[in-house]
Amino acid sequence: MTNAAHSALQHASRLAALRATGAMDAPPNAILDRLTRLASRLMGVPITLVSLVDADRQFFASQVGLTEPWATERGTALSHSFCQYVVASRGPLIVEDARINPLVADNLAIPDIGVIAYAGMPLTTSDGEVLGSFCAIDTVPRQWRQDQIAILEDLAHAASGELQLRAASIALAQRESFLTDLLDHTSELVCVTGQSGHIIYANAAMLHTSGYSADELMGKRAVDVVAEDCRQDFIAVAQRARAGEEVSDIETIVVTRDGQRLYCRGRGTPVLDAEGGIAGIRVMFRDLTRERQIQRVKDELIALVSHELRAPVGAIRGALKLLTPHMVHLQGKQRQLFDMAGRNADRLLVLASDLLDIERLESGVMTLARRPVSALWLLEQSSEAMQSVADGAGITLVAKAGATLVDADPARLQQVLVNLIGNALKFSPAGSTITLNAEPVTLDDGRQMVSFSVVDQGRGIPAEKLGRVFERFEQVMPSDASEKGGAGLGLAISKAIVEQHGGAIWVESTLGEGCRFQFTVPVAS
Ligand code: ADP
Repeated sequence: MTNAAHSALQHASRLAALRATGAMDAPPNAILDRLTRLASRLMGVPITLVSLVDADRQFFASQVGLTEPWATERGTALSHSFCQYVVASRGPLIVEDARINPLVADNLAIPDIGVIAYAGMPLTTSDGEVLGSFCAIDTVPRQWRQDQIAILEDLAHAASGELQLRAASIALAQRESFLTDLLDHTSELVCVTGQSGHIIYANAAMLHTSGYSADELMGKRAVDVVAEDCRQDFIAVAQRARAGEEVSDIETIVVTRDGQRLYCRGRGTPVLDAEGGIAGIRVMFRDLTRERQIQRVKDELIALVSHELRAPVGAIRGALKLLTPHMVHLQGKQRQLFDMAGRNADRLLVLASDLLDIERLESGVMTLARRPVSALWLLEQSSEAMQSVADGAGITLVAKAGATLVDADPARLQQVLVNLIGNALKFSPAGSTITLNAEPVTLDDGRQMVSFSVVDQGRGIPAEKLGRVFERFEQVMPSDASEKGGAGLGLAISKAIVEQHGGAIWVESTLGEGCRFQFTVPVAS
């Protein structure tokens, strides 16, 4: 065999197409067997093969008429292959008497298998890869007729079709198992319902969490696993999805097989069939039961601590204040201990009142006493309140604002500003400047607001923490609480106050260069 012909056999894309059929070394295929039988009968030949030509051998995906050991082995090395020339030339090979044909005269198939006459048609894929040959063989010389060649060509086409169909169904099965595997490894609860509302698919998380087996769940409608008191709402949502809407933010309670109620939140979206019609809906839920339980415990703890702590710590602080004038004679270690007790009582009281604020703000109990108030006045009041701390830290405070009035609760807004300035002071070096500003802005939706900013030249906040500093108990460095004071509640309180005013608060920062905290509140009309 020539080098060019040999390298045609080795082509990676051809070998990949061959593997993709899954037909190499596969058990006999009924459809291919019908085609080879038909060829033998119609052409009157003793041997017909569907020969798949690999890099170094040929495999007979179907055969009629081979003697042993070939019939059992279902293949040969390339030393016994005529079919390899069909692949190499990508065209038919017609041989009337192999013994006098220079291409194959030395081929071992002649003495060993008895191949004398050969007619082979390429098995070509739609991508133009030649996988092998559909061939008819006689053990005596013969002249192939035109109509016989035509039959062979048609049957070769049919065989290629079958091989490609197999390749497609293998690819489809692989893709399906890939997707199923993916869905089974997500923690979201996923299920799909059909036209009648019955569940036709549920992923592993759905099965595991609900406690139902796949069979049990397939017999149910989605609404059957929803708590009775949520069914009405769920049906309404399902109807919207079935009408083609993508419904987000569904909240419902799923009841598990053993009766547990799971608080779930998620989306319902229509599933389309091939014609674009709606074939059902897919529901994707997250089970938030545990998070809700934790949240509830946290809320209860906060309420407890804030109420139970304030009075006794207030009493301790009062007692310490009363005692102060009598403690002038204390010295050294004793004096230090007394002062520390006072400072710690102060810190505890701030913590208790922060917790109380958070609780009131989040439960909506805190009402705002809003009135038109000057933005500049708010900045000045707040910076005055922090001036002595700034002086102590060697930091300059600068406040700038136009003559703008905001519609706000002055005490609450000062609380926000004092907190932002306090943070800026905590995290800035001596010699730096903190700039306070307020200016009118118009939002995209046309609302007139005033934007306040507190800009420092301190250590900044890493990008990945920017979104989180407004959450409760969130600190960038674990050591911030002990070294700088505070429990990580200041920004959560600020956020709640700003949002209660109908505004928004955010922060931009370049690490090492400083932070720009900014918030908006409505102008006074
Ligand atoms: P705290 O009440 O303990 O000060 P905050 O909610 O006000 O907590 O702030 C949370 C965390 O955000 C702080 O502990 C700090 O890590 C970070 N942070 C807030 N402001 C700044 C700032 N100006 N510069 C750098 N880090 C800041």
